Amino acid sequence: MAPSEVVLSYLKSRFPEAKCALVFHNDFECLCAIVMSAQTTDRSVNRVTPRLFSDFPTPAALAGAPLEKVESDIHPLGLYRSKAKNLIALSKAIQGTFGGTIPQDRSLLMSLPGVGKKTAGVYLIETKGVPAIPVDTHVSRVASRLGYAKIGTDPGRIEEKLERVFPQGEWIYLHHAFVEFGRAVCHAKNPVCHECGLLGVCPYFKKNLSTKGK
Ligand code: SF4
Repeated sequence: MAPSEVVLSYLKSRFPEAKCALVFHNDFECLCAIVMSAQTTDRSVNRVTPRLFSDFPTPAALAGAPLEKVESDIHPLGLYRSKAKNLIALSKAIQGTFGGTIPQDRSLLMSLPGVGKKTAGVYLIETKGVPAIPVDTHVSRVASRLGYAKIGTDPGRIEEKLERVFPQGEWIYLHHAFVEFGRAVCHAKNPVCHECGLLGVCPYFKKNLSTKGK
């Protein structure tokens, strides 16, 4: 079995239901929730979105929202001030530049304030099922440890590499599975290697073992 097949097979056995944990009810809520999820947990985002979307349910409503009110609605989140600014700014851009409709092209999405390549990719996965492996901090870490990229490689290049290695039909699943695997097993500080089924194909593990053995 090729290493990529081992990775896919293991993730499917360990995380068969891997999916996005953010709660949303339409495309606008989805985009806002993903923007708010940077450097915080999906659970934290899900706690603040009911009030935010009740107060400002559309791009038009959020575009005209007072900054202080949006900050108050999402206050428990880290970086809430910059996120509140971005939510209002991206709503204004949707209203002003795109006539009130969220663009469905990844490059155009990336023109919105607070929306980078990862956010745009996740949005298109969740709302349109567009195949991609958007790279967040978990995907980046797992990919580098498994030898698909050097540490510090640009997320866009990591995504391209992963999409060359794995079949397109698995891209969306792999994005979610890498995120869950990174959260549950391959932690940033202390990966739980003794519980990981990828020991045999993991360059990071092999390197660390040989270092400890010297
Ligand atoms: S063996 Fe350790 S470092 Fe390698 S993928 Fe598994 S948890 Fe991560």
